[in-house]
Amino acid sequence: MSRITTTKRGRGPAPGGSVKPEGPQTDLEGSGPEGSVLRALDILEALYGNDRTPPEEYSTGEPLDGLILTLLSQNTNDRNRDMAYNALRKKYPTWDEVAALDPAEIAALIRPAGLGETKSSRMSVILARIDADFGGFTLKAMHGWSPEDARRYLSALPGVGPKTVACVMVFDLGMPAFPVDTHVARVSRRLGLVPERTAPEKIQEFLESVVPPERCGGGHLNMIEHGRAVCHARRPECGTCAAAGICAYVAAAGGGTL
Ligand code: SF4
Repeated sequence: MSRITTTKRGRGPAPGGSVKPEGPQTDLEGSGPEGSVLRALDILEALYGNDRTPPEEYSTGEPLDGLILTLLSQNTNDRNRDMAYNALRKKYPTWDEVAALDPAEIAALIRPAGLGETKSSRMSVILARIDADFGGFTLKAMHGWSPEDARRYLSALPGVGPKTVACVMVFDLGMPAFPVDTHVARVSRRLGLVPERTAPEKIQEFLESVVPPERCGGGHLNMIEHGRAVCHARRPECGTCAAAGICAYVAAAGGGTL
């Protein structure tokens, strides 16, 4: 799950060698878990270029749009999510119209994203609750909320877990949160930022506790790009990885190429 639909600025390391980070933004003398995370973020930021503030292109402008988009992205890829979302919005451009639909009709439209029945039922309940709580189909009022209140409200919606909450917070509300998808989890574990078997929710809690708020969005995007471009689930390209020098996965193999 991410807001990345294409690798806009992602570029892998130069063939045959590591890429040195340009102008680190972190005091590299820092130590402990926080220092390790910030070192890793600096390296990935130099590689992929997503900096401290999440780029505006990843925000939908309306947090409710972002919430539904993220709900659709659960257990599928970005392409299928976008197909489902666009099909729904093309036929029913307003959330009033969607809320009035039978969930079965929503399910048919969002089928490309999978789990149509589950997602459509949740969507109907979410829309009804937001209409009741906000007096309309918008979450823009949440811009004035504290991050704690926003997290509490979103977490209470059906089918909305920590990752979905974090995506809406960081991309649509500009609040500090660090969504952990499969790429972020894998990269975090391999780099040794967290113990190997740490659950995604715990990784998210940890990263949110050490990453400065303004670096959450960029750090999330850079980790995803690194997971896709270099640190693949199978056969990571450690030999050309710019982060090899700080990587626990490489250290565990005695520094050789894995
Ligand atoms: S050195 Fe290998 S395991 Fe470590 S982050 Fe790079 S690609 Fe992933």
